[in-house]
Amino acid sequence: MHDKTLAELAAALAKREVSSVELTTHFLGRIERLDPQLNSFVTVTAEQALAAAADADARIVRGEAGPLTGVPMAQKDIFCTDGVKTSCGSKMLDNFVAPYDATVVERFKAAGLPMLGKTNMDEFAMGSSNETSFYGPVKNPWDTTRVPGGSSGGSAAAVAARLAPAATGTDTGGSIRQPAALCNLTGLKPTYGRVSRWGMIAFASSLDQGGPMAQNAADCALLLNVMAGFDPKDSTSIERPDEDFTAHLNQPLKGLKIGLPKEFFGAGMDAGVAKAVDEAIAQYRALGAETVEVSLPNSGLSVPAYYVVAPAECSSNLARFDGVRYGYRCEKPKDLMDLYTRSRGEGFGAEVKRRIMIGTYALSAGYFDAYYLKAQQIRRLIADDFKRAFEQVDVILGPTSPTTAFRLGEKTDDPVTMYLSDIYTIAVNLAGLPGMSLPAGFADGLPVGMQLIGNYFDEARLLNVAHQYQLATDWHRRMPGGFE
Ligand code: GLN
Repeated sequence: MHDKTLAELAAALAKREVSSVELTTHFLGRIERLDPQLNSFVTVTAEQALAAAADADARIVRGEAGPLTGVPMAQKDIFCTDGVKTSCGSKMLDNFVAPYDATVVERFKAAGLPMLGKTNMDEFAMGSSNETSFYGPVKNPWDTTRVPGGSSGGSAAAVAARLAPAATGTDTGGSIRQPAALCNLTGLKPTYGRVSRWGMIAFASSLDQGGPMAQNAADCALLLNVMAGFDPKDSTSIERPDEDFTAHLNQPLKGLKIGLPKEFFGAGMDAGVAKAVDEAIAQYRALGAETVEVSLPNSGLSVPAYYVVAPAECSSNLARFDGVRYGYRCEKPKDLMDLYTRSRGEGFGAEVKRRIMIGTYALSAGYFDAYYLKAQQIRRLIADDFKRAFEQVDVILGPTSPTTAFRLGEKTDDPVTMYLSDIYTIAVNLAGLPGMSLPAGFADGLPVGMQLIGNYFDEARLLNVAHQYQLATDWHRRMPGGFE
């Protein structure tokens, strides 16, 4: 049962081959049995999940079910969940029980998907390996001595090991796509503004975007149908007519123009990754697509620009965690200043502190123009590069990550090397474009992801381009050994 896709599970529920309570019980059992090896969940909400499953079964009997009613899923622990601990991977919020649901969570509840629990993540979504979590690292089910990627590493490991049929992630610089690549999943970062950020704990507000992580593109389309939509509570949410993201799955690729940015195929990529991506390109040509070399000349500036913009915004967003309003408070503060400094000093981990310091520095008077303003100008140049490329092509293809899953601890002492994990994904966030990662093969037994980037609001096409590849290949169906 657990190896089935969302669409297959939904069909089994509709035909009453299985009930939501049975399905939910099955996944909860897998979590209990297998998650000790992975550490992919921070909180398991068994009781609520079973109650929601019973409601879903009743809805199905009444004939009031939506397309995914009764299929259980997991939520990244960055989304506020009413009455359930919402830690964001941090000691700062270890004691925080959210008083309301994030819009995304509310939508999944309304659609009748029981929540199995909250998944582990890098602290405040800052990281590429899930090693900055207060709850300890997550292990990659393909090789438990390796990282699952980050920051949505708990979601990725849980879905890859089939402890949940799907999960949410958030992507500020690659945190849906890179862990999807390292764990052999399909993950989509929508256009900025597509998915509400209300109740999604902010890291870098102009970059953060929630999205689905699942086995394949068709499942991501089903999930995006629930997640996406205008939300008056989020001032950056974009008002557009609702779309059915599954409606375009089954368009042939003949005549599709795929751009291959020459900057994405240079030095720095592992040979095994390059080989798998090259084979995927050949497969697309066999499906009738045409490939065109394009250039994104400013893409080399994306990592440095991101590491000014993201820390600047996080230093402002994380100012609210002061030991007064909510979250961690130090023991016996001497005075107000002691309360602030010790609560923040004890509540945040090293990576979060590093970013707050960089961001505060970049925003300070005298440095603002040299760093923050300059980074924003570079951001515009990067967006213009994509604009020019999309005048020539329909989608852009490249690797998701320069390497496959690396060993736990391999990059923890060297933040810059860690930051380069997102060298191919960050430009997409800076420009606000939709991007996805999908399985493209294996190198030395470890999954390789390829990235597809679309023009603004072109998710439906992107999902179809991924879906057509998945009809012709079976990489996405492979499961890690030991978790069958
Ligand atoms: N790895 C990047 C960072 O550490 C991106 C994280 C993310 O997308 N949340 O900031």
